[in-house]
Amino acid sequence: MKIEHIGIATYKIDDALKFWRDALGLGVVETEEVAEQGVRVAMLPVGEPRIELLEPTSESSPVAKFLEKRGAGIHHIAVRVDDIRAALGRLKEQGARLIDESPRVGAGGSLVAFVHPASAGGVLLELVEHTPAGHNSEKRDV
Ligand code: ZN
Repeated sequence: MKIEHIGIATYKIDDALKFWRDALGLGVVETEEVAEQGVRVAMLPVGEPRIELLEPTSESSPVAKFLEKRGAGIHHIAVRVDDIRAALGRLKEQGARLIDESPRVGAGGSLVAFVHPASAGGVLLELVEHTPAGHNSEKRDV
């Protein structure tokens, strides 16, 4: 397993980029909209892991709700696994509370699933499996 990315909730990606890109000096590799999750995403590599800036695209987006409650800040940590279904099966067996019982398509065409903070010490945990079809894996599995 590896840290895949750290998700940060922002009100506006463009404002957040003034710090992460312009002041700190990270590069932006991609921005995309993940309609299913109601977010726009910008990925900034820090070595192999990435900072994932999240901006809600609708009021009902989980990120919009997070911003309402807690304001901008760290939203989740994502761990990369080889087999997301096996990882979910193991967690379920161990009694962990899953937000996603089965994986869905996330940024870059990867498979993702969230584990509830109640089971992960207060941290929203995302599991990520890179798929051959996703452009993430082509770029990063080298
Ligand atoms: Zn994420």
